[in-house]
Amino acid sequence: MGGRVGRGRGAAYSHIVKFARAVALAGLVAVAAAGCTTTSESVTAVRADELRASAGGSPPFVPQPVPDDGASPDEGATPTTSPDPPATVPTDPAAPDPATTDEQPDLTTAPSVPAIVDPEAIDFGPNKPARARDDFLLAAVSDLDAWWSQAFPDIYGAAFAPIAAVYAAYPERPDDLPGCGAPRTTYREVNEFAAFYCGVGDFMIYDDGEGGLLDDLATRFGPASVAIVLAHEYGHAIQQRAGLLDQGLATIVSEQQADCFAGAWAARATSGVVTGVTFTDQDVKAGLISMLEVSDPLGIDQYSPGGHGSGFDRVGAFQEGFTAGAARCAQLVDDPLELVPNLFLSEEDLYSDGNAPWGYDGDALLGFLPVDLNLYWGTDLTDLFPDFDELTLVPVVSADQVACSSLSDGFEDGAALCPENDTVYLNEPAALDLYQQHAFGDFSVGYLIAVEWAEAVQLAAGSTLSAEPRALANDCLAGAWVASVMPTETGLPQPRDEARTSAISPGDLDEAVRTAILVSDESAGDDVIGGAFEKIAAFRGGVLGGLDTCLAQF
Ligand SMILES: [Zn+2]
Repeated sequence: MGGRVGRGRGAAYSHIVKFARAVALAGLVAVAAAGCTTTSESVTAVRADELRASAGGSPPFVPQPVPDDGASPDEGATPTTSPDPPATVPTDPAAPDPATTDEQPDLTTAPSVPAIVDPEAIDFGPNKPARARDDFLLAAVSDLDAWWSQAFPDIYGAAFAPIAAVYAAYPERPDDLPGCGAPRTTYREVNEFAAFYCGVGDFMIYDDGEGGLLDDLATRFGPASVAIVLAHEYGHAIQQRAGLLDQGLATIVSEQQADCFAGAWAARATSGVVTGVTFTDQDVKAGLISMLEVSDPLGIDQYSPGGHGSGFDRVGAFQEGFTAGAARCAQLVDDPLELVPNLFLSEEDLYSDGNAPWGYDGDALLGFLPVDLNLYWGTDLTDLFPDFDELTLVPVVSADQVACSSLSDGFEDGAALCPENDTVYLNEPAALDLYQQHAFGDFSVGYLIAVEWAEAVQLAAGSTLSAEPRALANDCLAGAWVASVMPTETGLPQPRDEARTSAISPGDLDEAVRTAILVSDESAGDDVIGGAFEKIAAFRGGVLGGLDTCLAQF
């Protein structure tokens, strides 16, 4: 975010001081790993290649549109060599309510395995080092085969054959993986993409190697995070069967749909009908994190070739599938979700590789942020909230320095409101820690502060909400404020007080989402300030739906 932006529509953005973009490098690595390659005559495997090239890297593996090892179906043809679908196909349940599940899983071990697992659903190959996640992934792919065997005919009205092959790739594996427009696929290539689907041959390959992105995800967040990546890739196999990959769709369209399909399957797993693959709240959270971990680099236009979308966009598609189901995902091609701008608006914005500076004056982060929040809630919206009093941000280094009998929750996370003296106390050590962390950065602090301003707005408006609904309304209100500082192609949203000069930059929304996950209830069933899924949905509601969406809640 920047604190000195040109005013009015069409204003020059040469003075944007952007928020921290420490996630840029991490994002680049992640995108390179997010293969999602699809290849047919008209759809070449350009996804990761072009992003890497545009970021200054040398283009890696670029498959050529030629048949592979001969064992695959004809190019672009619907595969015909797939095995029969499993005889037992569980029915597709309604999406579970993430607020109703509150198990606390042990993320280090995979759940038990169902009896209906197809032991050949994944080609593990010889020499494979055993992984704790292997059986879980086998069950997941087995269920993806089974689920789509029913869902695909229901949605697309056509016969379905499961994906022809899913390969685990690892350095010890002999060089026997089929190529995607080349004679074979090397482990190094898989390691660059993490996972990809290839339309020529109708197969998926994922990185099973130690230390790869998926191994890292599994170690940090459990096997569900990897299963969701495979569900995403399976979504590309669905698109191949639906003929979508030959229609020249922008990559972002097919990626949003694949994320949505992954979310729909995650809802199924969360509902408990998939034996051996039962997602908990923590697993759903892991899925959200997977979306954030594998998103476009900052400043990439979603509609550029290979665009997957920001973490904010990807999380949104995943949530859409989770709550609305796979049939809704099928509609995304013609009725897409709104995407947020992800472009730097000036060279200075692009090259200022730092934060809005930490500090309390002028263009420093904690200088312009309170000013803009007061101008939005207290000046722009004074007719709507006449009882809103401007707030003052006061930094303290410990709770001992806070003299307030009615302090709101949240001080431990970074900020809390004291209504009796119209003060937001900033827990400076906690906030500074977030500000300095990679993948969090300055808008993490911006989000936390905006939430406290939102709490004051609810007080001024006489909101009677309490506990989780109140906290989620604050997330929504914070999002509504974000919408007022989100640049469009023609400038900043209008009308607004001309003293307002703040604007967010690419990556800020991802930081807000990460922070929402960080401070969320451990379990969606805790109902204190909301689970990760709920908080993100509320925040997105404010960003995309605006203030009216939030006011409808109280
Ligand atoms: Zn993809």
